Order: sequence, then C-alpha cells, then structure tokens
Amino acid sequence: MDRSVLLSGGGIAGSTAAYWLAKSGWSVTIVERAADTPSSGNPVDVRAGAVAVARQMGIWSRLEEAATGVERLVFVGADGRPQATIRTRQRVDRHEEVEVARNELVALLLEKAQETSLIIRDDSITALHQDGGGIDVEFQRTPSRRFDLVVGADGLHSTVRRLAFGPEKRFSRPFGMFVGTVRAPAPIEDARTVLLYNEPGTSLTIHPAGGKPGFAFIFRGQHDFDYRDADQGRRLVESTYAGGGWFTTLALEKWGASDDRYFDAVTRVDVPQWTAGRVVLLGDAASCISLFGDGSSSAIVGAKTLADAIAAHPDDHTAAFAGYEHTHRKHIRPLQRRAGIASRLLVPKTRSGITMRNAVLNALPFRNERRAPDSQR
Ligand SMILES: Cc1cc2nc3c(=O)[nH]c(=O)nc-3n(C[C@H](O)[C@H](O)[C@H](O)COP(=O)(O)OP(=O)(O)OC[C@H]3O[C@@H](n4cnc5c(N)ncnc54)[C@H](O)[C@@H]3O)c2cc1C
Repeated sequence: MDRSVLLSGGGIAGSTAAYWLAKSGWSVTIVERAADTPSSGNPVDVRAGAVAVARQMGIWSRLEEAATGVERLVFVGADGRPQATIRTRQRVDRHEEVEVARNELVALLLEKAQETSLIIRDDSITALHQDGGGIDVEFQRTPSRRFDLVVGADGLHSTVRRLAFGPEKRFSRPFGMFVGTVRAPAPIEDARTVLLYNEPGTSLTIHPAGGKPGFAFIFRGQHDFDYRDADQGRRLVESTYAGGGWFTTLALEKWGASDDRYFDAVTRVDVPQWTAGRVVLLGDAASCISLFGDGSSSAIVGAKTLADAIAAHPDDHTAAFAGYEHTHRKHIRPLQRRAGIASRLLVPKTRSGITMRNAVLNALPFRNERRAPDSQR
C-alpha cells in the first residue's frame, strides 16, 4: 500500500528525513516556503552522529570540499591584539567533523532528497484536518491533498507547530540574547581564524567562512522583539553597537547597507510532546536553543532517528513517533545544558567577566586544545 508523508520545511531536518523516508518506501512530498535555496550562509557544524548519516547519504566528501576550513577562535581586544585563543575543530586530522555554510549544507541535502521526493516551493501549509485514516492538508497555493503523516520540520517559527500544537509563545522562551549576521567583505588575515571582540554584553565576530566572510553580532538584551519585523532587528543592532570599538564602525556600515541580513532572538523551544496524532515535530520546530544547541547536527540525527522509527513501524505511527521521541530526547538533553556555558564564554556580561574569561583560557595547560562552542565557527 502506498504510504504518504508531507514534510513542512526543506531545511536541514526536513531534507534529511525526506531522503530516508523515501528510501524506506514512503511517497514523500516537501513543502518549502522559500522560493530558492536559502540565503543564510551562517556556518554550521556537521559532527558526531550526523557525520555517519552524511556518509550514508553519500555527501560527506562534498561536505569536506565545502568546509570553511576554520580551526580557531581568537578573542581580540579593541586594538585587535589577541587576548586568548581556543580551537574550534576537535580532530581536524581525523576528519570527524566539518563546518559548512548552512545554505550549502541544505543545498546538498535537498539535492539528495530531490532524487526521490516531490518538492513544492514557495508555498506553506495553512490548515490540517486529521481523522482516523489520514490528514487533509490545505496550502496557500497548491490544491488540498491527503497524507498519512505530516512532519513539521519548519524551524524555530514552525507553522505546523502553531496549527497542530498551539501558538508559538506557549513553546518558545527568549534566551535573553539576539543574533544578527551579515555576509560582507571583511578584513581577514587568516582564513582559518575567527576573530571575536567583546564589550560587556556584546560580541562582534568576523568569520572568514571559506572566502565568503561575514560579521556576526551576538548580544544580550531583554527587548520585546517580533521576528517578522526585520527593521526592528536592524535598529536593535545599530543602537546596541553604536560607538563600539575594533571593527564595529565597519561592521555597522555593512549591516546597514546589506539586504542579506539575518536577525532573530536566540530562543529556547521546548514542546512537551512532539506528537499530535499523525503530526510530528522535528529539528528546531520540536526543540532547540537556536544558535547554541548544536542544532544542525541534531537536526540530521533526529531526522534519521524519525525515519528509522517510521520504517520500523510503518503501520503504527503512534509507536514510531514514541520511539523517535524517546531516543532523540536522550540525544539532545546534554546539548541543551551546554548552551548556558557557551553563551557565558562568548558574551560575558561585564568587563571583568571578559578579563576573567581570557585569563582562564590562558591559564589552561593546553589552551589551544580548548574547544569553542557552536555559533562561533
Ligand atoms: C546565526 C546562526 C548560527 C548557527 N550556528 C550553528 C552552529 O555553529 N552549529 C550548529 O549546529 N547549529 C547552528 N545554528 C543552528 C542551526 O542552523 C539550526 O539548528 C538548524 O538549521 C535547524 O534545522 P531545521 O531543519 O530544524 O530548521 P531550518 O534549517 O531552519 O529549516 C527550516 C526550513 O523550513 C522552512 N520553513 C519555515 N516555515 C515554513 C513554512 N511555513 N512552510 C514551509 N517551509 C517553511 C524554512 O524556509 C527552512 O528551509 C545556527 C543558527 C543560527 C541562526
């Protein structure tokens, strides 16, 4: 019998799940809101369990080719002099992880998914109607269709989560930080080195990103923010960083001039149960601390776990979803705990915190072996 699944979101989680579900015989459709490949080329990691999945999908060597090649993070002072250094790659020599631009990762995963899945672009689900035998799905543009299952892999601000589980504010909590990134020509001395400058509660990063450099603004704040208001994000960065040292003036100039900016509040998503009947959540839509939680690798691992669980219980989605949730929650728990440490390391609240962080890193016996947390690589 033909079994059909609809994935909302052709990002990291959605395209990985599509590939594996099609492989186990499901008829797979992806609906992706973006008309083209995503523009956000922020560097993300593929590491740990995600490496094995990427290898099985046959994309590992292409990921290695696309790697940014970054190996270290250097904390600099206002004069640009290094204050402390940490290594960003665990085992460069053993090829156990790569950092790639998110859009390149998504393009590779989608290319694999496209071999066996139907992709509807520039569209979104608008309504879900479940009954005992399936789900009728309504779209903005595409005529309504019926599926056996729907997977919400549509990211931090998931539409499926809102439609099937409830309003976003019920599941999202602000982490007390914001992130803005812009790809722009930046002063790069060494393509393997990320530079980070702190003032109390803010950080400005220059990432070489494999020849496509960019600036990142990560800062603390409790502002009321609506992610749909792009101009609010632009203004928040400008007001927070005004008068800052190091390359702040240049970074703000690029930020203001670009039309390829990313901005959002760092958000903790926690949905108590990832399943609502025939609907299941995956990736950032289900659970994340956007930015600090190893989200790209978790999205890949979670997608494989979900596809395996569905393949093991093709006629029992309740058992499949329960198995996926049980296994994947165990995987992400320790990652979420590390987010607080990462944020304190990268964006100390006070000047003495910055001095202390640098002193601690410099006092460590094998300081160049210390590993940088996510989002600065
Ligand atoms: C600045 C920044 C830096 C980061 N750095 C790192 C890092 O260093 N390491 C790391 O592991 N992770 C990092 N992350 C996190 C990582 O990018 C996410 O955790 C990961 O992308 C989650 O994958 P996903 O597939 O769940 O969501 P996404 O990759 O966000 O994909 C969601 C997809 O759904 C689509 N979509 C959204 N709404 C709809 C809709 N209504 N209908 C159809 N489609 C829709 C989107 O267009 C998108 O393609 C970073 C994130 C940011 C913002």
